[in-house]
Amino acid sequence: MIVDVYNLKKILLDKGIKPSYIRLKILEYLITRENHPTVDEIYKELKNIFPTLSKTTIYLNLNLFVKNDIVKVLNVDNNEQRFDFIKQEHINFFCEKCKKIYDITIKEIKIKYEEIEHEINDTVLYFKGVCKECKNQKITNLNN
Ligand SMILES: [Zn+2]
Repeated sequence: MIVDVYNLKKILLDKGIKPSYIRLKILEYLITRENHPTVDEIYKELKNIFPTLSKTTIYLNLNLFVKNDIVKVLNVDNNEQRFDFIKQEHINFFCEKCKKIYDITIKEIKIKYEEIEHEINDTVLYFKGVCKECKNQKITNLNN
């Protein structure tokens, strides 16, 4: 997976987490490797960049990510915790009033492909409407 797609800093800032270098590196590891690593595996890799790094630091940061729905824990049978980045797909939302484009996070979209008789080559999805700011403005104007 290409990390460029993900703005690592933004992922953390959106959750109110300070994007320290170590956090960005842990997140980058999870996104690029997609190998559901254990704390040990991340430690082995990142201690080359951070010689003073401890497993506890990695563990605490992973827990912070888990609490903020950035990462999920996979409990595999041998009781060793593995961590997985939660892919957050985005759909663009176009505001017809202010012309701003927002990212809407989607968890899941279900399409019954078997019921579509056409041949699909590409899927382009977006939302159009009035953004929350423009909506609030409208309400304020009505009250005046
Ligand atoms: Zn708007």
